[in-house]
Amino acid sequence: MSSEDSPPPRPQAGPNTRLAHGPYDPQSQHGFVNPPVVHGSTVLFTSTEALKNRTRATFSYGLSGTPTTKALEDALNELEGSAGTILLPSGLAAVSIPLLAFLSAGDHCLVVDSVYTPTRRFCDGTLTRLGVAVEYYDPDIGGGIAGLMRPETKVVFLEAPGSNTFEIMDVRAVCDAAHAGGAVTMMDNTWATPLFFKPLDHGVDLSIHALTKYPGGHSDVMMGSVSATAATYGRLRDTQMQIGVNVAPDDVYLVLRGLKTMGIRLERHQASALALAEWLESRDDVAKVLHPALPSFPDHALWRRQFSGASGLFAFALTGDARRAAAFLDALRLFGLGYSWGGHESLAVPIDLSDRTIAKGPGVGALIRLQVGLEEVADLKADLETGFAAANTL
Ligand SMILES: *Cc1c(COP(=O)(O)O)cnc(C)c1O
Repeated sequence: MSSEDSPPPRPQAGPNTRLAHGPYDPQSQHGFVNPPVVHGSTVLFTSTEALKNRTRATFSYGLSGTPTTKALEDALNELEGSAGTILLPSGLAAVSIPLLAFLSAGDHCLVVDSVYTPTRRFCDGTLTRLGVAVEYYDPDIGGGIAGLMRPETKVVFLEAPGSNTFEIMDVRAVCDAAHAGGAVTMMDNTWATPLFFKPLDHGVDLSIHALTKYPGGHSDVMMGSVSATAATYGRLRDTQMQIGVNVAPDDVYLVLRGLKTMGIRLERHQASALALAEWLESRDDVAKVLHPALPSFPDHALWRRQFSGASGLFAFALTGDARRAAAFLDALRLFGLGYSWGGHESLAVPIDLSDRTIAKGPGVGALIRLQVGLEEVADLKADLETGFAAANTL
């Protein structure tokens, strides 16, 4: 059959269709729509021969995986375009395990300066103690990272947008230079989710998620994932198994459930956050709004070129000092004061950038981070108005 006779390739189904159906086959479980929650340690084999060859079996021991963990790994592989995914009990463990897998004493590791603060603590603490030299780079460095590469640079770690300050990196340029120098590239992709950015399509080897955030989506579960290329997956999985860490089936079930609605939730998070960001930008008591989808944002063009959407987390600088920010935050009723994000409910926290050495933020006002939840925008705006009124009485 000549290529002209072949049927045209089937267009890939849209994101919500893929989330609704996923790679899981209900007929593999008697037609039940969702995968079973398997609690298990021991897996029984039918013969000593099968026992001897257990590493080739799909399941051999609870620690290495169950039908429940496999259902989530498969779903994430489909979304990320990865060869393999590992699951870990927090987003932070999904940062630390790949770094441990690919770094040894004497190696050099380049980490973006606007990285999630606990990632920096792991790098400055554990990695440094193990004899790894950690160096932070400017999120706007692009291909210029070639100038920081050393023969012993084994990992370049990216995060975009940057935590709290939302810088957008030129991911392809950084990864190409890292690969030319022989390093593995890892990216924390939590903010965008695989629906708005697919790191592996831009040269990243390992894509990291705090599934705690949008995939879980309801502030009731903690989990992380690392999705890898074929070339990096073996070493990643092997390290996970050497350290002996996996996730609990009931938690996996919550994330599988959350994934089903992640697309439509993100549509709402995106629209509400952008509406509030635009409104904040128009106010005299707001010095700056840090949201990549705003045309005024310095890295807006980089965001447009690489990302297909924006989620519900952004920051703004209230005019004045930290005391005004505290008055603002204390007056809020719908926005809770608390960490994490990606759930159904709105949150606000003051931002501390004191760990930064390069990406020091806009340098005006008092920075506040908003996680915009699924509530009505009008109600959220009214709540923020209360905050401004409280700050403006000072
Ligand atoms: C929250 C977060 C993590 C860590 O996730 P946990 O599940 O809370 O450990 C990692 N990276 C980023 C960018 C995050 O926002």
